[in-house]
Amino acid sequence: MIVIKGKSVFGGIAIGRISYLKKSREIVKRTIISDTRKELARFEAARQAAILQLEELYEQAAAKVGEANAMIIQIHQMMLEDLDYLEAVNNMIENQGVTAEYATSVTGDSFSLKFSSMEDEYMRERAADVLDISERVIKILRKEKQTAPSPKGPVIIASDDLAPSETIQLDKEMVLSFLTKYGSLNSHTAILARTMNIPAVIGLQDGLTEDWDGKTAVVDGFTGTVYLDPDEKTLEEMEEKKRREEEKKELLFSLKGKENITKDGKAIQLYANIGNSSDIGAVLENDAGGIGLFRSEFLYLEKSDYPTEEEQFSVYKYVAESLAGKKVIIRTLDIGADKQVPYFDLPKEENPALGYRAIRICLTRKELFKTQLRALYRASAFGNISIMFPMITSLKEVLEIKEVAAEVKAELKKAGIPYKENLELGIMLETPAAVLISDLLAQEVDFFSVGTNDLTQYTTAVDRQNPMLDKFYDPHHLSILRMLKLAADNAHKNGKWIGICGELAGDLSLTEAFLSIGIDELSVSPALILPLRQKVRESSVGPVNPDWFL
Ligand code: PEP
Ligand code: MG
Repeated sequence: MIVIKGKSVFGGIAIGRISYLKKSREIVKRTIISDTRKELARFEAARQAAILQLEELYEQAAAKVGEANAMIIQIHQMMLEDLDYLEAVNNMIENQGVTAEYATSVTGDSFSLKFSSMEDEYMRERAADVLDISERVIKILRKEKQTAPSPKGPVIIASDDLAPSETIQLDKEMVLSFLTKYGSLNSHTAILARTMNIPAVIGLQDGLTEDWDGKTAVVDGFTGTVYLDPDEKTLEEMEEKKRREEEKKELLFSLKGKENITKDGKAIQLYANIGNSSDIGAVLENDAGGIGLFRSEFLYLEKSDYPTEEEQFSVYKYVAESLAGKKVIIRTLDIGADKQVPYFDLPKEENPALGYRAIRICLTRKELFKTQLRALYRASAFGNISIMFPMITSLKEVLEIKEVAAEVKAELKKAGIPYKENLELGIMLETPAAVLISDLLAQEVDFFSVGTNDLTQYTTAVDRQNPMLDKFYDPHHLSILRMLKLAADNAHKNGKWIGICGELAGDLSLTEAFLSIGIDELSVSPALILPLRQKVRESSVGPVNPDWFL
C-alpha cells in the first residue's frame, strides 16, 4: 500500500479503480507557409468556431453546474477576444510566416507562462485557461474532434491537471473522485469539483504517477489522503467510514433541495455561519441557501501579523465563487473582548466586552478598516457578497461606515478595479441601543442580522464568557423576544429584511416564534441547516402568539 497526501477540495470517501487521463499534448511543429493572408483567415475562422463551441458548452454547463460556475466558459470566450492574445498570434503568422497552429501553440504557451509567474493568485490560475483555449483552436485548425474525457464506468479520475472545460464535461455519474498532481484550491477545476459534490484531492505532486492507471485506490476527501492498493485493514476501515457517512447523508439527503417552507406556506431563508473558508464543503453539503455570517476575524486570529488586502481578497473571492451566486454575508472584523490578537497591541482594559472592540477599532483605525473593505469590494465582483458590521450602537457609526465605504469605492473606481456598486450593507443588532433605534437604523442599511449571543449578554448584563454565570445567561429572556419583535417590525416597516445569526437561531423550540414575527433568515452552523429545514417544514405558524411576548 502507498499512502500520499494532497490538498482536499471536497470531503467524502471514494473507493474504486483509477483511470489516469493521459493528456499527450502533441507538439506543434514549426512549419513555414507562403500565403500569410490565407493563414490569418484560417486562424480567424478557427477562433470564431471556437467561440461558437464555447457558447454551446456554456449552455450545457449552466444546466449542469449553474450559471455562476459556468462563467468560466464565458471567461474562455473573453480570452478568445483578448486583443493582446490575438495580436500575438497574428503578428507571428505575419512576421514569421508560420502556420496558425504553430502561432496559436507558441502564444498559448507564452501567455500561460506569463500568467503562472504573476503575483496575483487569480491571474496565476488563468494559466490553465489560456492553454485550454489555445488547444481548442488548434484542434479546430487540425479538423480534430473536441473530445470530452469519457471514463468507462465509475472510476477515480487521475490526471496531471484537469482543464475547467474538461471537468465541466465529465459525466458526473462516471466519476467517483478527482485526483490531480497540480492545481490549487482556488482553481475553477477545484471549485467545480466542490460544486459537483465529488470528493477530490489535488496537488498530489510526483506522488501521483501514470502507472497508477487501473489500480485500486481509496480517496479520503476529508483528510486529503489517497491509499493506493489499500491493505485489507485500511479497506475495511474506509468502507466503514464511507458507510457511516452515507447513512448520515441519506437521512438528511431526503431534505436536500426542498424548500424551507411551513405547512401554511411561510418561507424562510436558512443560511450557514462559517469562520473559515474550509467550512465551505459543509455549507454546500448541507444545502445552505447562502452564508449568513462569515466571521472574518478568524483570518486575523490565525495569523501572526495583519492579513494583507491580497490575502483577504483571495479568501473572500474563493468563498464567493464557491457559493456560486448564493448570498455570502461577510462580517467585518470583530476583534477585541474575547477575541484578542497580540499584534493588534490592544491596551488592557477593565471591561473588555464593553471596550475597544469590533467596529470601534475599525472606526478609529481607518486604514485597517479600509484594507478589509477594499478586499471585500474587490471580491464582490466574483459573487454575491454583502457586508455586515458588528457591535453597532448608533446612527452616527452607521453614517461614518457608509462614508468610508464610499471612499473605498471611489478609490477602486479611479483605479479601474471592478467591484459591485450596490452591494448590500447590513448591520448586526447585538446591543440594546441598536435595537431600540432600529427604526432609524433601518432607514440607513439594507438588512439587520441579530447577534443574540451578544444581545443576551448586553441586555441581561451577564458576561457570556463567565462559566459561573451559565445559570443566569438566558437567551430566552422575554426582553430578547420583545427586542426581536421590535426590530423585525422596524425592519419590515422600512422594507428591509431581518435575520438572526446568533446561536439562538438554531434553537428549534423558537423556530415557530421566529417565523411568526416574520424573521426572514436564520443563520446557523452548517450541520443544523437540514434539521432546521425539517422543523420549518413540520411547522404551521399562524398569527403571532401574544403569549410569547408577555
Ligand atoms: C452574536 O453576538 O450573536 C454573534 C453572532 O456574534 P459573535 O458570536 O461572533 O460575537
Ligand atoms: Mg457578537
